[in-house]
Amino acid sequence: MRVLVLGAGQDVGKSCVVVRFGGKTFMFDCGMHLGYQDERRFPDFSLLSPSGGFTSVIDAVFISHFHLDHVGALPYFTEVCGYHGPVYMTHPTRAIAPLMLEDYHKVLLNRPGSGPVFARQHIGACMAKAQLMDLQETLQVCEDCEVTAYSAGHVLGAAILHLRVGGESVVYTGDFNTVPDRHLAGACVGWLRPDLLICESTYATSVRESKVAREGSMMAAVHQAVASGGKVLIPVFAVGRAQELLLLLDEFWERTQLQVPIYFSAPMAVRANQYYRLLLNWASGRVKQGPPGRRAAGFGFSRVLPWQPELLHQPGPCVLFATPGMLQGGTSLEVFKAWAPDPKNLVLLPSYQVAGTLGRRLMLGQRKGLLVDKATIDVNCKVFYATVSAHADAKGILQLVQQVAPAAALLVHGEPDKMAFMSNKIHSSLGIKCFMPAIGDEVEVSSSGCTPVQTSAQLLRKLPMTVQQLLRASEGGGSVAQGAAAGGDEQAVSAGAAAAGWMQQGDVGQLVQAAMKLAGLNTAAAAAGGGSAGSNAQQQQQQHQWCQ
Ligand SMILES: [Zn+2]
Repeated sequence: MRVLVLGAGQDVGKSCVVVRFGGKTFMFDCGMHLGYQDERRFPDFSLLSPSGGFTSVIDAVFISHFHLDHVGALPYFTEVCGYHGPVYMTHPTRAIAPLMLEDYHKVLLNRPGSGPVFARQHIGACMAKAQLMDLQETLQVCEDCEVTAYSAGHVLGAAILHLRVGGESVVYTGDFNTVPDRHLAGACVGWLRPDLLICESTYATSVRESKVAREGSMMAAVHQAVASGGKVLIPVFAVGRAQELLLLLDEFWERTQLQVPIYFSAPMAVRANQYYRLLLNWASGRVKQGPPGRRAAGFGFSRVLPWQPELLHQPGPCVLFATPGMLQGGTSLEVFKAWAPDPKNLVLLPSYQVAGTLGRRLMLGQRKGLLVDKATIDVNCKVFYATVSAHADAKGILQLVQQVAPAAALLVHGEPDKMAFMSNKIHSSLGIKCFMPAIGDEVEVSSSGCTPVQTSAQLLRKLPMTVQQLLRASEGGGSVAQGAAAGGDEQAVSAGAAAAGWMQQGDVGQLVQAAMKLAGLNTAAAAAGGGSAGSNAQQQQQQHQWCQ
């Protein structure tokens, strides 16, 4: 298995990872870098093939979610570079990515830089090619190759992808969050045991305080600013964290009966909220049903007003959500320039700020004589960097790696020193080999290997049930009472403790042997392909593979 990192290698931005295994080649994400306006803006596709012809090089592209650093280069790749193969994404990604791309295209027109670009009409043409995925659904991609999407808990429709070719498999996390929030459940992925897990590592060294504490201090900062007559600027991507923060502010405003106006600058946010309402089924139950004792919030946002440019110098407090999210142009930058000198005001940075952006400089504490658009600005307002990001922290990353139990891991979408810390941690605490290639690096990952065995149809029917029994029993940690309560029978429960141990060691062979015993099957005969396996010796033999 070979991995070529075209983007997000020891960096956050332009996610794009190419994996070749089982004789096929796949691309995970096709993003752009928000910190660059030159040729580094998009992945260097010439590393794939200097002469183009990408349709014959790449068998399929998978997009994990609608953020620009994961989908921003896709129209360029399909419409300018000429890739015409299949592109897979979920329904919400297909619905919302065009809004993000159109918004970005406007910024691009104002600040073209020297990098490659795509035309506005390329967005629709590109998106028309998308093939849609549902969560927990397995799709046939090509011969002997299938993909399953699992919820990533990062933004609406964000998916963790499990791609299998023959006996080998890869899991690509995209961005994920293990902690549920107001509108999304946490990432939901099981014990997939792939040969390789490609995992994001944005917050590989942070362990966050509780969500309640973080939201409390953020709302306290907002309240303090508006109570003293100040204005609050919240630079956001129009879709994603913005909806979660709107729900948070909506709850806070209702609880405190604040009358301060909340504005949203991006007209696309209105369209995005309409899509969110249409895609309500992809959100968590809390948004659909509302918190206990209160009306369902949905994505109505009746309190939020559209922003008008003439409001910029209007006196009095207000809160403004403005795009883009890292102050790299557009309304958020214009408003920042006007409001930053006033000490009563507040800039709230709710998401990760990419290196090279103004948001990052603010996050790092730069205040005096900040050079913005060839003019210097003294930042006298307060700056609050809120950690309400929809990425897993170090604990969440380790938890997911342990849960998925890969043979090897490869970190992307992170900063080098933080990745090095997490890479060591994964190796030392979980015993899993971990790579962290830079952009342009190729990595050879050895496959865990599969041994084909002959087995009977009867065994194939009974085995999953018996393995399930063992797994349920092992959840009880071997305790008879707990195991029985979890639904295992007495025999399965007694095997539960051993099964728990094998699971921890990742010893599938032992687990299967025990399951076969429980199923009352002659393991030696079954493994050897003998016709005496089980009670019906006439069952047709079938080829099956077990990874060992
Ligand atoms: Zn993202």
